[in-house]
Amino acid sequence: MLAPDRALALVLDRVRPIGSEPVSLVDALDRTLAEDLVSASDLPGFDNSAMDGYAVHAEDTEGASESKPCSLKVVGESRAGAPAAVALGARQAIRISTGAMVPDGADAVVRVELVAVRHGLVELSARVRAGQDVRRADDDAAAGDRLLARGTLLGPAELAVACSIGAAEVPCARRPSLAAIATGDELVEPGETLGPGQIRNSNAVAIPALAQRAGAEVRSVTTVCDDRGRTIEAIGEALGADLLVLTGGVSVGPHDHVKAALAELGVEQVFWRVALRPGKPTWFGVAPSGCLVFGLPGNPVSAIVTFGLFAAPAIAELTGRDPGKRRTEAVFDEDYAKKPGRAHVVRCRVEAGADGLHARPTKAQGSHVLTSMLDVDALAYLDIDRGDVQAGERVEIELQP
Ligand code: AMP
Ligand code: MG
Repeated sequence: MLAPDRALALVLDRVRPIGSEPVSLVDALDRTLAEDLVSASDLPGFDNSAMDGYAVHAEDTEGASESKPCSLKVVGESRAGAPAAVALGARQAIRISTGAMVPDGADAVVRVELVAVRHGLVELSARVRAGQDVRRADDDAAAGDRLLARGTLLGPAELAVACSIGAAEVPCARRPSLAAIATGDELVEPGETLGPGQIRNSNAVAIPALAQRAGAEVRSVTTVCDDRGRTIEAIGEALGADLLVLTGGVSVGPHDHVKAALAELGVEQVFWRVALRPGKPTWFGVAPSGCLVFGLPGNPVSAIVTFGLFAAPAIAELTGRDPGKRRTEAVFDEDYAKKPGRAHVVRCRVEAGADGLHARPTKAQGSHVLTSMLDVDALAYLDIDRGDVQAGERVEIELQP
């Protein structure tokens, strides 16, 4: 059986880059930047005051002391957004606000708390050094600096930086469209009454949510019963999307029709079955349209885990998103029984200890135990070949977003 890393490589190998589009800053949260963002000018772009006070020429204050204060004549004001109308002359001061432009001739700001003001004169009882409380024009960034790299996930700070250098819109990777199909005769939609042996269609909620968070645009969510013809029909309608994620019906039971339906529609199988728990029956292929097709196991935990392992990285790769560094190590705090042969993905809570991170399974790890996915801080990866884990061993984990 295929190792999970190899399976992921086969998926990524079939990803073709998707185009980009300009997106206004207000709509660009959580989008992926498609090109480097370079500052055309210095930021903030002009010398300005870090404090409310008086702009002065530092040399004028030399020798000032408690016993021999120096007096400077106030000749104007520089406010945020309204620079002083006059330049600073010898032995003069200009009132200045935080963020206001430092007037020509001034090279320092003395804070308002440090002066006495009498009859239009400011008195300083200590000298001020050149540059004191002045923010330089390129303190934040210099013209030509690459401030954001392509592939960056745009969060609030990234959008604020883009705004601060004058961008109204940013080039973002197009969001891949994703169709989701849940298969199963037993599935009942929210609000409907459960009959005997029926269950809620939780994958139809989890998969679109995962897809959205991974950066895809969900274009359809459908449910199909365990019928070959209906399955072919539903898949045929979904193959126009960039990605199709099916859940259930991908094993070898008499009512599992997904693989046959995909074959019927000419979808090339790249792999079926991964040496993984949960997630063994995972299927991946590519349609003639280029649609990347994932057949995930129906068990809700398996579906969520395998989406994270294979579909989410495909979406990230499509958009050129930097996957970030989420893999690290933790001390595993429980004994865990495992036979060699399949890699295990263990849902864990993580806490910081004196010797680094510690991971502990959330609860029983059955692939039908959906509540084991609650409060998951990280997934622990236990290699195919390894056996039991003893409490205290270090294991590889991937922190969850
Ligand atoms: P299957 O992969 O179709 O054999 O399904 C495996 C298990 O997952 C069965 O117990 C199904 O009832 C369950 N299952 C399949 N699809 C869903 C779904 N959409 N939501 C919740 N459970 C599901
Ligand atoms: Mg089924």
